[in-house]
Amino acid sequence: MIELTNVSKSYRTDTIETLALQHLNLTVPAGEFLSIMGPSGCGKSTLLNIMGLIDEPTAGRVVLAGQEVTGYNGSRVARFRNEQLGFIFQSFHLINDLSVVDNVELPLLYRKVGSKERKRRSLEALEHVGLSNRAFHFPNQLSGGQKQRVAIARAIVGQPNILLADEPTGNLDSHMGGEIMDILLRLNQELGTTIVMVTHDERMAKKTHRLVRLSDGERVS
Ligand code: ADP
Ligand code: ADP
Repeated sequence: MIELTNVSKSYRTDTIETLALQHLNLTVPAGEFLSIMGPSGCGKSTLLNIMGLIDEPTAGRVVLAGQEVTGYNGSRVARFRNEQLGFIFQSFHLINDLSVVDNVELPLLYRKVGSKERKRRSLEALEHVGLSNRAFHFPNQLSGGQKQRVAIARAIVGQPNILLADEPTGNLDSHMGGEIMDILLRLNQELGTTIVMVTHDERMAKKTHRLVRLSDGERVS
């Protein structure tokens, strides 16, 4: 499902080169819920961004959902991302001027799905995360945990094969974080969505199938 072979990433400025990832090999089978941990600056976001086609590796090969995506051009990347990938971020990234249901239907709008169908599927996604009763609220009328549930609904509305989560519980208290984690576990079990989650929380990581640790851009377990 996700296959990274000998992936390296360096960031270059005028004077310094930072090796963010070094010769990383990682295979995530379909249906796995994987967590990634490691100290700040060890390359976790870089790794997630490479898996999510937000960033390109300097060297190595990336295969996602059976397709070698290394070297895909801009429009192909955009389409692949829209069809195969869902993203969740620590800071939610909702659009405050749009209602909850309008936020959720954005990925379908990019796919040119008709408005009735968009609404139907968005309400269904909101039901999945237990937030049907907030469909016509606006993001700033919601708690942090509710905002993250909207973000999850938006991430799954297009039925992606792969969900990438960058510290999804990082901005939430432990109770709300636990609820978000329960939703992710349920999506993984019921829909079979492959999930890769970066976290700083050992308790969240323990609930997933496998934990990979990074240090200085290298895998240490
Ligand atoms: P983490 O998510 O584990 O905190 P990152 O993947 O964000 O780590 O960063 C890994 C390393 O790459 C860090 O040393 C960071 O400073 C560096 N880095 C990340 N993004 C950039 C960038 N755009 N330009 C230069 N260096 C970067
Ligand atoms: P932070 O923990 O600093 O708030 P985020 O979790 O918000 O970081 O974002 C993680 C990474 O994803 C960053 O490199 C950011 O540039 C990128 N990113 C954030 N939002 C989007 C988006 N909507 N589309 C693409 N990339 C994004």
